[in-house]
Amino acid sequence: MSDMPKEEFRKAGYQLIDWIADYLNSIEKYPVMSQIKPGDISKQIPVAPPVNGEKIEKVLSDIDKVLIDGITHWNHPGFMAYFNTTSSGPGILAEILTAAFSSNGMLWKTSPVVTEMEKSMMNWFRQMVGLPENYWGIIYDTASTSSMHAIASAREQMGLGFREKGAAGRKDLPKIILYSSEQAHSSIDKGALLLGVGLDGIRKIPVNEKFEMIPEKLEEAIDEDIKKGCKPFCVVATVGTTSTTSVDPVEQIANIAEKYNLWLHVDAAYAGVTAMIPEMKWVSKNWERADSIVINPHKWMFTPLDLSILFTRKKEILKRAFSLVPEYLKTAQDSEVDNLMDYGFQLGRRFRSLKLWFIIRYFGVEGIANRLREHIAWAKEFSNRIIEANDFELTAPVPFSTVCFRYNPGGKAEAELNTINEKLLEKINSTGKIFLSHTKLYEKFVIRLTIGGIRHEQRHIENAWELVKTTARELK
Ligand SMILES: *Cc1c(COP(=O)(O)O)cnc(C)c1O
Repeated sequence: MSDMPKEEFRKAGYQLIDWIADYLNSIEKYPVMSQIKPGDISKQIPVAPPVNGEKIEKVLSDIDKVLIDGITHWNHPGFMAYFNTTSSGPGILAEILTAAFSSNGMLWKTSPVVTEMEKSMMNWFRQMVGLPENYWGIIYDTASTSSMHAIASAREQMGLGFREKGAAGRKDLPKIILYSSEQAHSSIDKGALLLGVGLDGIRKIPVNEKFEMIPEKLEEAIDEDIKKGCKPFCVVATVGTTSTTSVDPVEQIANIAEKYNLWLHVDAAYAGVTAMIPEMKWVSKNWERADSIVINPHKWMFTPLDLSILFTRKKEILKRAFSLVPEYLKTAQDSEVDNLMDYGFQLGRRFRSLKLWFIIRYFGVEGIANRLREHIAWAKEFSNRIIEANDFELTAPVPFSTVCFRYNPGGKAEAELNTINEKLLEKINSTGKIFLSHTKLYEKFVIRLTIGGIRHEQRHIENAWELVKTTARELK
């Protein structure tokens, strides 16, 4: 028995690439957000698996029949919800090649190119965002995983014997505390949960009117915890928060982290890529004082899901937290190379760096920076429309490419405004032309528009404004 014959593979491959090229080229004909109801897709998939093989043509023809209605098209230029995750041509091609190799980069030896390409790409990316040479990078699937590894390193740095003795049942262990702003991403809390910090070991520091962490409040919280006999160990500063893309004051937070010997983790999952734009250099100010930084190319760098980067200047601590080498994984090169399995929870690892190699070479650093620059400029234009319209309200500053706003025609109570804006968002999204998301800021229901897709053009943002404005003014 063997695999699909070569010629059949070749033919199906051409057919699939043709399908993808046509799909991406005509993507605007689909509603951005899938319109189906729960269960609609499962109904079309046979309950039992086929006993005998089917023709690949049959499988391919089911893309249009079974899959497409259940797709929310993240690559659609009308997709302006959450943060964009779009796939560029070179990214898609690299993903195909990754599958073709199916190389496992757990050890250098198990495919040297996986480890060496990742090392080179981390070195490229480090330079692109202007980090000094003492930063070492590694690729994980998502920012959630990257941040969990950062928090694990922070825990290891304390030297309290978590690795050897664990935490359960230990009377000699103080309660350990992690700090973030109340606007930090839930992945930080999940990482802390996983590592035994517990929900009541997480302190949410208040933010100012621009949704930035108030450093004085951080220091107060730390002092209070120390007085209670707790052990502060980690602080997370977010550069580009998920709700409003606000930027915590990294400089002041770094001062405090250094004073109290806390691990400083910078969560720049979305906004970190902007550090490669010369006039946006302020974004990465004081990053060289952080112990670790996470940036997601799968958000705003046209990289198909998934690819998240963790930089740290303390790779030895990360290794101490995770390295465990059984006899059957020892190799002759262990003293000369990084075996990437030593720097994380997982053993097997995909050849993700190939996507960066294709994307950075194809677009060039300038090409990527210019696209981000455009997105930022269009977000500014959109926010200017909001400011100029006297029946709309900008609800947060716009440092990057995300705009938070609401419809506020005047004379309405807060509760009513929330209902109106919820209804407005639902109406906009039901057109299928664009897809926006929402957040809550001080109990206000706020609409969120984000730009960052590889297929976004200025006209899409102009059309979005027309649709938002018209829909709002027609609301009854
Ligand atoms: C999106 C986001 C995350 C989570 O990213 P995943 O890769 O989906 O885990 C974490 N932090 C911030 C600031 C984000 O914007």
